[in-house]
Amino acid sequence: MKQSDIKTPYYLIDENLIIKNLEILKSVSDKTGAKILLAQKAFSMYSLYPLIGKYLAGTTASSLFEAKLGHEEMPGTETHIYAPAYSDEDFSEIIKICDHIVFNSFSQWNKYKNIVSGTGIECGIRINPEYSEIETDIYNPCFKGSRMGVTLRNFEHSNLDGISGLHFHTMCEQNSDVLWRTVQKVDEKFGKYIKNMKWINMGGGHHITREDYDIELLCKSINYFSDKYGVAVYLEPGEAVALNAGYLTSSVMDIINNEIDIAILDTSAACHMPDVLEMPYRPNVIDAGNPGEYPYTYRLAGPTCLAGDIIGDYSFKEPLKPGDKITFCDMAIYTTVKNNTFNGINLPSIVLRHQNGDTELIKTFGYQDFKSRL
Ligand SMILES: *Cc1c(COP(=O)(O)O)cnc(C)c1O
Repeated sequence: MKQSDIKTPYYLIDENLIIKNLEILKSVSDKTGAKILLAQKAFSMYSLYPLIGKYLAGTTASSLFEAKLGHEEMPGTETHIYAPAYSDEDFSEIIKICDHIVFNSFSQWNKYKNIVSGTGIECGIRINPEYSEIETDIYNPCFKGSRMGVTLRNFEHSNLDGISGLHFHTMCEQNSDVLWRTVQKVDEKFGKYIKNMKWINMGGGHHITREDYDIELLCKSINYFSDKYGVAVYLEPGEAVALNAGYLTSSVMDIINNEIDIAILDTSAACHMPDVLEMPYRPNVIDAGNPGEYPYTYRLAGPTCLAGDIIGDYSFKEPLKPGDKITFCDMAIYTTVKNNTFNGINLPSIVLRHQNGDTELIKTFGYQDFKSRL
């Protein structure tokens, strides 16, 4: 299928760019022995799971459904799960498909330990080292009063019989200098418990595939724990697996003016790239610059009735007109997993660009997808 024939809006995932990321991740495992899992919450395009499974050790999940997806679509690899709490109903399914279960509290551990005992499932406790360098609270698992993980104060050191690992996740889009400092803090507080564990999971938030990422220091951080305590080390990046590996292409529907020229697109920040509003951030657009950088500046906005459905202000070399295509970068992560049909806006199609350059339409959506959820 020719890319120009695909109806907008669509997400395009580029297999070569995914492979480039996977090779970097695999090089870290090869160098250190660390096991790397795909955190599906960032990227769940399961048509690529067979490929991802060739490079990574498995998947991790934040819910039963994610766990099922990883189990079904990346068979023969590890299936981990962590959630703030498990329901009895979900737990009875989780034990059939997960080989590692991380509990968020000792009360959850007490509730389920008899069910898991004797199954061979490895259990862990998520700890909260109360150290992070994230400034936005919504992404900071260590903010004051956080529900994520057990603090040292609440750590039940005499209730570890059956616990084989500890898990911490305290980072977001960060480089390995943050990890290196975090590792020292975790060791200061929890080292005496890590010593008796089989594994430690250092969570996600590692921007390993970013241009300026310091891989050497990542390896040093991994080796710190494996050398000192002989534990296996897991990492579970989400973003890093599909960072800069996808696009969202849309069309201009209309141009209007109210103090500024405004281009109304067939894609919505609220529906199709919710992190633009939630984070918030300004995605890069191909062949566009900051306002005023090129002669023609426009506000790019969505087709919903939400007044704030605005992606941002961008400048272009030529005036925009209806029908022009606008392509947003880095749209593989936290998009297809997070989009919604608010306002009855259809979901973008999902397109895969294969290694040989062929494009394949993986999925299209329609009215039934909207209706079936209501
Ligand atoms: C979100 C999350 C991840 C993945 O985080 P990224 O920032 O996408 O790398 C990994 N582990 C846990 C527990 C998470 O909540």
